[in-house]
Amino acid sequence: MRWVIKIGTSSVCDIDARLSQEKIDRFVSQLRILVSREHEILVVTSGAVGAGVGAVGKTPQDVTDKQALAAIGQARLMEAYQRALHPIIVGQVLLTRQDLEDQDRRQASRSTLERVLSWGAIPVINENDTVTDAEIRIGDNDTLAARVAVLMEAHRLVILSDIDGLYTENPKKNPGAHRIEAVPWVTADDMQRFSSEERGGLGTGGMATKLEAARIAQEAGIGMVLAASQEPDVLDKIEGIKSWQGGTRFLAKRGMIRA
Ligand code: GLU
Repeated sequence: MRWVIKIGTSSVCDIDARLSQEKIDRFVSQLRILVSREHEILVVTSGAVGAGVGAVGKTPQDVTDKQALAAIGQARLMEAYQRALHPIIVGQVLLTRQDLEDQDRRQASRSTLERVLSWGAIPVINENDTVTDAEIRIGDNDTLAARVAVLMEAHRLVILSDIDGLYTENPKKNPGAHRIEAVPWVTADDMQRFSSEERGGLGTGGMATKLEAARIAQEAGIGMVLAASQEPDVLDKIEGIKSWQGGTRFLAKRGMIRA
């Protein structure tokens, strides 16, 4: 089975924005298990800007700061993945919006990713933050991951976050909010409801981008699971999803339930 797994900044960095080898190791040990069970894995990782902030000790003030911090952080991020995954080989792939929209570049991106996978290596993907300005950015890795899942005809998209699923309301503000186990179809109404929600920290995503990712995946017949990165053995639980009650499952279109 082919999985695209997205992990957010807060799941690879500590609270002070330092890259956490420990968090990456914990995540990667789960990837190893999936690889040993013959799954194909593509990772979409955030954390370049976060790791840059941790390295330089500077909070970004403008877009150029962010791009420069991403240049520094991306190198550290890859080093941490390669160290954690060894002896599994890692291939860094940095994508821009055009790489996914322009037909020739889309085809080239796909061929490259297929070739990396065919060698048993794991593509570790991020947006090419250092060269993308506001107009041509995808801007968030939730949507990037969904687009990669569509490009690569993945069977399952997993978004690992600091929240363990989609709630009826913001659980930080409303203690009565409860987690939704399954979403058959993300509606325009759902998108509207979460569009104003605040975003946290150095990552750019919030629930709105997760719903957008789910919508992109669902339309392509790909199921998505949103779950907490800190949940022990979360990927193993998602693999045996039928007997796991956690996370939120966004079902694939017309009952094509792959997740
Ligand atoms: N590409 C950004 C980074 O690696 C993260 C974008 C996001 O948080 O969705 O820092």
